[in-house]
Amino acid sequence: MIDLSHLKGRRYGVFGLGRTGMAAVKALVAGGAEVLAWDDTASQRQAAEDAGAELADFATAPLNYLEAIVWSPGAPFLAPKPLPAAMAARRAGVPLISDIQLLLDAAPEVTFVGITGSNGKSTTTALIAHILDVAGCANAVGGNLGPPTLGLETLGAGGVYVLELSSYQLELTPSPRFNIALLLNLEPDHLERHGGLHTYGAIKRTIFNGQPEGSMAIVGVDDAHGRWLEARLANATPVSAGTETPARVYADETTLFDDGTPVFTFKDARALGGAHNRQNAAAAYAACRALGIATADIASGLTSFPGLPHRQELAATLGQVRYVNDSKATNASAAARALASFDRIYWIAGGLAKDGGVSGIEPWLNRIQKAYLIGEAAPAFARQLALMAPSMPVAQSGDVLSALNAAHRDAQADPATSVVLLSPACASFDQFPSYEARGDAFRVAAQRLSQPQPRGAAA
Ligand code: ADP
Repeated sequence: MIDLSHLKGRRYGVFGLGRTGMAAVKALVAGGAEVLAWDDTASQRQAAEDAGAELADFATAPLNYLEAIVWSPGAPFLAPKPLPAAMAARRAGVPLISDIQLLLDAAPEVTFVGITGSNGKSTTTALIAHILDVAGCANAVGGNLGPPTLGLETLGAGGVYVLELSSYQLELTPSPRFNIALLLNLEPDHLERHGGLHTYGAIKRTIFNGQPEGSMAIVGVDDAHGRWLEARLANATPVSAGTETPARVYADETTLFDDGTPVFTFKDARALGGAHNRQNAAAAYAACRALGIATADIASGLTSFPGLPHRQELAATLGQVRYVNDSKATNASAAARALASFDRIYWIAGGLAKDGGVSGIEPWLNRIQKAYLIGEAAPAFARQLALMAPSMPVAQSGDVLSALNAAHRDAQADPATSVVLLSPACASFDQFPSYEARGDAFRVAAQRLSQPQPRGAAA
């Protein structure tokens, strides 16, 4: 747990008592702070009370002498509609902050790496941490990935916190100070909460605010926003896996270059397929070099990186068919990355659609043998696909398991090598509690398909 004893005797609020909020309650209480806590769910409130917090509904309770309210990043506070508790805090002049802000303030001697972007955050975060492990450098992963931030171990000098940062978390981190800050890319996402791409981009760019002297700003320049930003940041190190003018750290289809010198070849890296992963590798390389990690250790880490579940995860193989779980692709641009990575695809897509639906996948339509649509988005996706590719076969499959069964039958009947790909381009909440639950359901079912059936079992 992070040592917050410098906050002894101060009063903090914690709003939202999920994993992040409860870890905040516990760390604040252990540090000797007075904690007021609230959550709409009674059992969560009870857990906070048991952990030593006082309960107070921030919408109505007096907020005097509160330093800040540690706000759950999952709870929208202003848009789409203002939350009464957030309005009350604003009226009382109490800032809303993330648990990450408390960590940044608690550990001044430690190095912080912050990673943001619309896609690739988790992979890049995990990749950097993996390389640091390989190099024997003490580190802890937190933020949007891994255990709740304030539950992490307290690292001493020389340690590195590697933090994945969502726009929701950055919005609640008013005084960032990342020694190494990465912005991988910017695509439309979460616009309903941020009120448009302009604000969303502005929030993402706050990762570069307050960087101490000697810090590094790593900018993915494979999109127009990144190129625009690079020209405006004094300490920018551009990284790329696709721009025409090679960046300082640049990956082509086979090789990673640092300032023109080849430093790594991708052929042995089993979990870094696709241009998007080469971008992630380039960013991780630049970050690790800035941390002083030897090139040989970085190369060894890139090679042995096992990948993360739900990101183009090979769930099963049966005959010539691979079953790939890419449930984390919750928007069209992430799904496009997966479609770009395989040649002959039986594609399962749908769920709760984002703005724009499946637009962005156009360059890869000819790889899709058939689409199996699920969830709320299915009718709209069918209409969009009919316009984009009128001859593409499309099935309305309802749910993941029916889609998998249908795709499995078709792919097994195909004499060519193919992939059954769950890459939904949608959030999961219409049918599952999370993208992980959706991906787990796919993986378990795909593994069952690939096991020999007991005799007499129904097909
Ligand atoms: P995030 O944490 O930002 O959501 P992940 O690393 O979990 O990103 O990857 C989610 C999905 O996004 C992957 O399955 C892949 O399809 C896509 N993706 C990963 N890295 C990138 C990237 N650098 N650029 C674009 N898409 C990416």
